[in-house]
Amino acid sequence: MKKKYAPLAGSLILNRITGHNAIVMAANTRIATVAEGIFQAAKDTDSAVFMELARSESDLSGGYTGLVPKDFADRMKQAAARVKFDVWALHADHITIKKGDAAEIEGTKKLIDAQADAGFTSFAIDASHLFNFAGKSVREELAENIRVTTELAGHIWSRMKGEEFGLEVEVGEIGRKGEGGLILTKPDEAVAFIRALNENDVFPNVLAIANGSTHGHTYDADGNIVAQLSIDIPQTKAIASALRVHNLKVGIAQHGITGTPRELINLHFPKGDIIKGNVGTFWQDVVFDVFKVYEPALYRSIQDWTLEKYRPQNPGKKDQQIFDSNCKFAIREFFKEIYAVGDETSAAIRSRAYAESLVFFRAFGAYGTASLVRKNL
Ligand SMILES: [Zn+2]
Repeated sequence: MKKKYAPLAGSLILNRITGHNAIVMAANTRIATVAEGIFQAAKDTDSAVFMELARSESDLSGGYTGLVPKDFADRMKQAAARVKFDVWALHADHITIKKGDAAEIEGTKKLIDAQADAGFTSFAIDASHLFNFAGKSVREELAENIRVTTELAGHIWSRMKGEEFGLEVEVGEIGRKGEGGLILTKPDEAVAFIRALNENDVFPNVLAIANGSTHGHTYDADGNIVAQLSIDIPQTKAIASALRVHNLKVGIAQHGITGTPRELINLHFPKGDIIKGNVGTFWQDVVFDVFKVYEPALYRSIQDWTLEKYRPQNPGKKDQQIFDSNCKFAIREFFKEIYAVGDETSAAIRSRAYAESLVFFRAFGAYGTASLVRKNL
């Protein structure tokens, strides 16, 4: 029997959200301390939520967060149980495949096995890097992505032994730049991709597309962090509408939300077309921001380590940008110190995470979505 506050299948949440004017927040909690505040806000606003880490953040050797899948899963389950919150999914974000050869596929299956054993209830296969630019048709361009996604989805299915799970797939590498700037997914690519997967008996709940966002911070020409205003809303709507016209039942996952003003999300995002919204770097910033005041010595050490290590690889860049882009790699290096901070620091992190989550859930139209899901269980 399912434990009371254990994660739900991602599909149960995503299917229920479909048709409503809402986006489910998926938080990449690279530093797990933020999770309790996020869950508490989810509970108080009745918002469904996903907790996730990507392969780069958490793999069999810990990724750059220092958390193997079981560590991450245990910390999220403990946080949900402490808060007593029940409508959430444990999601494997960006299970990225870059070459698609046999060795990489085998290694990926081992990661999926560990995630399934740890109790993950949702998975994102990202084979978008396997785009064949020499392909003569959309189908040819996407052939490798389709092949690898199908094989790995089959592996997840057999590994979950009849348990339901959420499935996300990806077409169009997020943040990839060509000569004319960011390369965006076209509606016919999204349609061809999902149709081919459906023909192979793979039915994803959400599709991640390249629609103008990048992961992490957005910078101006001088290396200063600026608001991200590049998400192409008309293109996103066009893709969602093309999928609907072709009767393909899949929502859109918006990646790389950090830096996008929440008033813009609140008023202008096509909620219901986009049903899952990933927020990652933002939560790491919350922790480091608290450290600046509560743990100045630790923050200083993190700064020094990051700059010393990454300055030589980034000639001509300002220290601030080098730090902002690479401080994520310090999480593993300072793992012990980060998780050993005192109660006052933890309380400040929890409260900041709580307050920021309220604003995200509101902007995403997520209030009340937890009850929607519960009604259907
Ligand atoms: Zn992403």
